[in-house]
Amino acid sequence: MAARLSVAVSPEATVTYAQGTARLVVRRAYCKGCELCLDACPRKILALDEADCIVVTDIGACLFCGACAGRCPDFVFVLDRDGEG
Ligand code: SF4
Ligand code: SF4
Repeated sequence: MAARLSVAVSPEATVTYAQGTARLVVRRAYCKGCELCLDACPRKILALDEADCIVVTDIGACLFCGACAGRCPDFVFVLDRDGEG
C-alpha cells in the first residue's frame, strides 16, 4: 500500500484542479479509498491522503484522458476539458 499524503484539505471538500482552462473536479466526499483509480491513471498523479481520500499530486502532468472518471465507481471525478463548466 502506498504511503499516505498529508494534505490540509477536508475529506468532505470538493477540489477543483486547473491546468490552463481545463479543470478536473474531485468530489472528495464520495471517495471510499478503494485505490482503483491509482492504477488507472497513466501519469500516476493520483494518491490517497491520510484520510484515505483522493488527491491529485501534479495537475500539470494530467492528460485529461478521463481514465480516472471511467474507473471510479463512485463518480468522484468530473472533467471539464475546455473550462466551460
Ligand atoms: S484525467 Fe487521466 S491523467 Fe488526469 S488524473 Fe485522470 S486518469 Fe490521470
Ligand atoms: S476509484 Fe474513486 S472511490 Fe476509489 S480511490 Fe479512486 S476516487 Fe476514491
